[in-house]
Amino acid sequence: MTLKQTLSQAGEILAASNIEGPLLESELLLRHALKIDRIQLYLALAQELTPDQHEDFWRLVQRRLNHEPSAYITGHREFYGLDFYVNSDVLIPRPESELLVEKTLELGRNEAMGTIAEIGTGSGAIAISLALNLSETKIYATDISAPALKVALFNCRKHGVENIHLLEGDMLDPLPEPVDLIVANLPYVRESELARVNTLDFEPSIALNGGSDGLEKIRKLGAGLSTKLCPGGSLLLEIGQGQSEAVTSLLSGLFPTAKTAVFPDLGGIDRVVSLTLS
Ligand code: GLN
Repeated sequence: MTLKQTLSQAGEILAASNIEGPLLESELLLRHALKIDRIQLYLALAQELTPDQHEDFWRLVQRRLNHEPSAYITGHREFYGLDFYVNSDVLIPRPESELLVEKTLELGRNEAMGTIAEIGTGSGAIAISLALNLSETKIYATDISAPALKVALFNCRKHGVENIHLLEGDMLDPLPEPVDLIVANLPYVRESELARVNTLDFEPSIALNGGSDGLEKIRKLGAGLSTKLCPGGSLLLEIGQGQSEAVTSLLSGLFPTAKTAVFPDLGGIDRVVSLTLS
């Protein structure tokens, strides 16, 4: 069977199992099995697969049919135009989190940003996207999970980033000094809604579970902010659908004179909350 026939057959099988974007998925898996890029794939569409290639590819399709995310199967996920290594020790970076990077860079362009901390960095995708655009800024990236920090370190090296200090520990605890800006995509899914995350069997639930109301981690971060954020400093938080009012009122309760703002993602869902201290 040719590559072209294989792609369309796998696409149909994935579609029949309700896998989203079945053709793109089958292309990603075939490229991964054959270790070729998109152009090489298109140039080879009329070629036959060898028996080994055939076996490797269909093994990957089987994993996808078991709902393992393709990012874990291939070890890659694109975020903010960059390629990151991912494995099941880290959350797969989501496109909507790019807004957190954009808003942070906007702030960084307007105000001198000497130090930034990303709390719960996971794969490091957010911290690294920032570091590549803010080469003068010292960036701390923390995570409670040592295996996640290994992935972040791998990605720092992959992207040749040297201005990130990776720190192991809970929330703000490992920060050695107050910073100008704190950015975080904390776990914010309500415990009772975790089952709705369709990658739950594969992604680390520690990166998703926000406790009974989804805001447990955000509350904990807020409580520690006063000693870890410099005067005039800012916080940028990713939030889940429907959480903007609860999060802004939580933060305004803690810092009554601070300014808060909410920014929607491309889907029109409130996705980022900012707080700027006076
Ligand atoms: N956006 C993720 C999801 O809904 C949740 C990420 C998080 O908890 N920070 O799958």
